[in-house]
Amino acid sequence: MTHKTPLLMRTAEEMRPVLEGWRKDGKRIGFVPTMGALHDGHMKLVDAACRQCDHVVASIFVNPTQFGPNEDYSRYPRSVDRDVDLLAEHACDMVFLPDVHTIYPEGFDTTVSVGNLAKPLCGNHRDGHFDGVATVVSILLTSVRPDTSFFGEKDYQQLLIIKRLNRDVIKQGEIIGVPTFREDDGLAYSSRNQYLTPEERDIAPSLYAALSWARQYQGSMSGHELAGQAKQQILDAGFETLDYCEIRHKDTLELLDDDVTDGRIFAAAWLGSTRLIDNVAMNDDE
Ligand code: AMP
Repeated sequence: MTHKTPLLMRTAEEMRPVLEGWRKDGKRIGFVPTMGALHDGHMKLVDAACRQCDHVVASIFVNPTQFGPNEDYSRYPRSVDRDVDLLAEHACDMVFLPDVHTIYPEGFDTTVSVGNLAKPLCGNHRDGHFDGVATVVSILLTSVRPDTSFFGEKDYQQLLIIKRLNRDVIKQGEIIGVPTFREDDGLAYSSRNQYLTPEERDIAPSLYAALSWARQYQGSMSGHELAGQAKQQILDAGFETLDYCEIRHKDTLELLDDDVTDGRIFAAAWLGSTRLIDNVAMNDDE
């Protein structure tokens, strides 16, 4: 893999001439927005961007507006120097590292909101979360104006919301979903895995195991029953509570019951003070 020394940029104004130069030379620009604390899952997005584009821009910004008042904004892991080293190893050309006041200057008073896709699942449990996501992604996409942006299927509802936001309003290139990258035991890589105690880390893979079980046993019972049994398995494994475990349509997020073939099973569950989410397609073709 080519090592590059990425340009470090703090503002959209600083990025603009470089991005314009690339565009003028006919280069395709790929974009990977992140909140940092980078791991191998993020790197799959960067690698996909490198394969499909000539230049890759990553952003690192822990976005305060997507965290609720009782959520983990202040303790969210931050490791910018290490993150930049990792991005350099993966041939990233530019890292956008704005501070909070650059993104949300004094007097900022706009919220971007997506409709029905933002209502169920995490939208039902994290008040204002997707408004925060849609708002920051609007700012980032219009600052970078990429040809292609890469988002993880790990946050599948977020991916659908961003696709819709981009289609309806932002219209900045294509949004590509990248499959969830997992540890050998099935646990999806996540910055929040750092919060887990060794005991919790042992329990954590049972989330993916239960969702995979539901996928395997589809057809033998209704979607509602499948999700119910998967939920019970997650609790039996040692998770304290679940926010949801549901099978919903992969494009519309409507609940599915009789025929789940076009569905994904989604779960959010708590291990101590850590909330983990995951989802699995019911169909091989995805
Ligand atoms: P975050 O830093 O958590 O906001 O994530 C930044 C991007 O990386 C989002 O598009 C996530 O969906 C994606 N991502 C996070 N974890 C994974 C993973 N395990 N596999 C693939 N993509 C991921």
